[in-house]
Amino acid sequence: MLKVYLKGHDKYYGLTDVIRLWYDGAVEDREGHRIVCESGPDAVIESILREDGTSEARIGDKVYRPEGQPLEPGREIKRSLYLAMKDLSGTDMPWGCLTGIRPTLVAMEEKTAEDLTEKYYVRPDKALLAMETAKEEEKLLNMLDEDGLSIYVGIPFCPSRCSYCSFISEDITKHMDRLTSYSKALESEIRLLAPRIRRKISSLYMGGGTPTVLPDKEFNELLDTIFGSFDLPADSEITIEAGRPDTLTDYKLEAMRDKNISRICINPQTMNSETLEKLNRRHSAEDIIYWYEKASKMGFDVINMDLIAGLPYEMPEDFVSSAKSLISLDPANITIHTLYKKRRANLSKEDVMDRASKRKGLDEALQEAYGLLYEAGYHPYYMYRQKDTEKGLENTGFAKGSTGCLYNVAMMTDYRDVLSFGAGSSSKRCFKQDGPDSKRRVERCLTIKDAIGYISRYEEMAMKKADFFEL
Ligand code: SF4
Repeated sequence: MLKVYLKGHDKYYGLTDVIRLWYDGAVEDREGHRIVCESGPDAVIESILREDGTSEARIGDKVYRPEGQPLEPGREIKRSLYLAMKDLSGTDMPWGCLTGIRPTLVAMEEKTAEDLTEKYYVRPDKALLAMETAKEEEKLLNMLDEDGLSIYVGIPFCPSRCSYCSFISEDITKHMDRLTSYSKALESEIRLLAPRIRRKISSLYMGGGTPTVLPDKEFNELLDTIFGSFDLPADSEITIEAGRPDTLTDYKLEAMRDKNISRICINPQTMNSETLEKLNRRHSAEDIIYWYEKASKMGFDVINMDLIAGLPYEMPEDFVSSAKSLISLDPANITIHTLYKKRRANLSKEDVMDRASKRKGLDEALQEAYGLLYEAGYHPYYMYRQKDTEKGLENTGFAKGSTGCLYNVAMMTDYRDVLSFGAGSSSKRCFKQDGPDSKRRVERCLTIKDAIGYISRYEEMAMKKADFFEL
């Protein structure tokens, strides 16, 4: 069992983040001033923060002390623990000790990729990726008015539940009856709040779940309500996730085209039909190609396609092969996610073991796919990470030209406000702070998670957000 004792500080959270890069199940023991991790090796580490701001970690007689000026305490103690963990495990991590924070946020603070490597032990290729993505994020952020508002509309239903999914989404085969009453409640919430908005709407994103799971009539009515209620400038970016091709119909594509929807997502996750079936996604790779080509011919210029690296039932080379297939389709956006151990996911123990046995090679497969994307003219434009991905690996959105998604940047960076509608959605306000620091204070307002509760309480949720946004 690994035991990490905290001396001179109480940064449990940051240290736990570092330990979980290598080992699952680190638990805080505040009475004992330590963190214990059953799955770790038998070792005792002391994590020490000194009064002068420097830190060190000790394993017996061995001392691990970061070089250079100390960073702020929360980051400083991660550096020394990282050095100790790296030595103990014999492996380093692609993002070094940069965990629990968006890499592009730190990249914006630093001048060069070398700074990320020297201060946080980030591998040079990841440091360059972070710097490049941060620059693109900043460019897109500047295209979003400071006082503008982004809108999110959530449909938490899907045609079946993918086995790796942890989103709040209900399988409609069990809850078909709820779809209509949910979309009516959602429309009512929109009608209540939209007329109060006096700010420019910079982007609107309909996600989920799978919005196109709504039947044709309800889908069209929801679009009518959105376009009839919000004052959407002609240049607003509007995205609709049509993630699962098994929900698409000619009618829905035409309804979106008639409303000049600027961006849609058709997400394969993998281009291997056998894997899709095992993951409980009820469509094939051929379905993806069919609907992608149809949507392209109909004039949807910006189509995003999501892929997941590290899926169960697949080897890293299968992921690279899926990336090649998508690149050959030439969509404007490709987003690469890394699978993480999702708490509510239905993956079995065997699946997870299967995943663990393939750890080796995932990092390299990602590098190979990124190389192919660069070669094909894509560049990274936004990035985020989730806890418990393999080696702390990232999710990155790639785009051709200037087609990067503004909403994604508004949502992921803490610089623009987002007003969200629907069950389980999260709204946020980003407040400027006094002083030279450009960081914002972020406040969030959550909507009830469960769809049934939302149907009966949408009015109360709308008023809560009206107060929150002072509408
Ligand atoms: S389509 Fe997306 S939201 Fe729906 S179950 Fe699958 S992964 Fe989850």
